[in-house]
Amino acid sequence: MRLTGLMRIGVVALALITVVAFAVLTHVARPGERVSLLVTGGPVVTMDTNATVIADGAVAVNGTTIVAVGPRADIEARYAAATVIDVHGQIILPGLINTHTHVPMVLYRGLADDLALMDWLTKYIFPAEKATVSPEFVRIGTRLAALEMIQSGTTTFADMYYFESDIAEETRAAGLRAVLGQSVIQFPVADAATPEAALARAEAFITKWKDDPLVTPAVAPHSPYTLDGKTLQAARALANKYNVPLLIHLAETKDEIKTVQDAHHSTPARYLESLGVWSGRSLAAHAVWLDAADMQVLHDRGVGLAHNPESNMKLASGIAAVPEWLSRGMRAGLGTDGAASNNDLDMFEAMRMAAMLHKVATSDPRVMPARTALELATRRGAEALGLGDRIGSLEAGKQADIITVAVDGARQTPMFDPMSHLVYVSRGDDVRTTIVAGRVLMDRGLVRSVRQDEVLRDARAMADRVRVAVQQGAGSAAGAGGAASAK
Ligand SMILES: [Zn+2]
Repeated sequence: MRLTGLMRIGVVALALITVVAFAVLTHVARPGERVSLLVTGGPVVTMDTNATVIADGAVAVNGTTIVAVGPRADIEARYAAATVIDVHGQIILPGLINTHTHVPMVLYRGLADDLALMDWLTKYIFPAEKATVSPEFVRIGTRLAALEMIQSGTTTFADMYYFESDIAEETRAAGLRAVLGQSVIQFPVADAATPEAALARAEAFITKWKDDPLVTPAVAPHSPYTLDGKTLQAARALANKYNVPLLIHLAETKDEIKTVQDAHHSTPARYLESLGVWSGRSLAAHAVWLDAADMQVLHDRGVGLAHNPESNMKLASGIAAVPEWLSRGMRAGLGTDGAASNNDLDMFEAMRMAAMLHKVATSDPRVMPARTALELATRRGAEALGLGDRIGSLEAGKQADIITVAVDGARQTPMFDPMSHLVYVSRGDDVRTTIVAGRVLMDRGLVRSVRQDEVLRDARAMADRVRVAVQQGAGSAAGAGGAASAK
């Protein structure tokens, strides 16, 4: 009896010791709240409304969402992560947002440069598109563009092109976030013989993708000069039926201003206002040629504007009044436009060009500081796309779209101000990590979500078909030009 009693006490004591020891060990192994990912060890440029920079910071992510941003010591003490990405020598910032592009056009990169807009379009781009745009073409082009964007730190893009559902599938496979606009245009194109067919295609695309967490479907009427009023109004009605954005080109060139003035006795912005096109979520690309009344309309309607400094310079379209937009409180972001007129998708270059262009245009180096250029590529771009509550800054509760940028090479040494370096020194090639919705798409420079060798092989093969198409198209265009000049 006594022995049995002692044994019982011993068993209970042993059990207690085991429980305590297990608790201690567990505590050592789990210093804090479990999260899925920590990005830690570099300056954090949050791009919140105060432009907070944390000198030695970290970002904690759980699932798709940022749960905390703060000093490294605090975050590392509070959280234990399944995956830790240590980024000493790199800046941590929100993923960049490209508010205007045509991603499959990377396959026309460098096809024709240094031409007047109409020659460039009619002798090269239109013949190439006519002969080559297909579901296969846009998929190969989207995979190439996704690889380039992941490598250069773009996590969200707004697109306007054909076969947008195929673009959406490749975007999802690559892991990027996007606002994708199915094009509507008056003349027959690869995916629609009529504007009615294009609108039907857009509606099918929107209903298929409207609940996707990464892809926001949209309708993209091409421009006020390539569509009639009836189709423009139908595009607006379609966008409002599903509460999705409408994407459009606006006031890109002086020729467009004259065309719309001759046909409708108005400016493009006010003509579209008269049709009700701005009555809902809208994103307008370029807006190079706006007068004060146009700006008032676009401001009052909350239209997001996509500024494309490189495309506007390369095609000699003009200089958009971006500092004035911002002083009026208009919503604006930054874009690359398609790679056929840029010739790349590097948003670091777009930031630097924007910062430089507006200084020289106004003879005032203060009008576009580095912080403003960086805001256009992050928080302001998100707001222009109507996604400001979800992305554009590193703050708890927002989506975990994060990049890191190396600043430890000769070109970046020394560094006094991370924001200055991001705009005036950094290049897309300096990006080391790209994360979208908590998924690591690139780690230490290695892209995980897209097969680089296959993507480049397919793109080069497609380029051979583009070359042949342009040679044949250029022959017929030259013939037409000869006939015109003979008149
Ligand atoms: Zn464009």
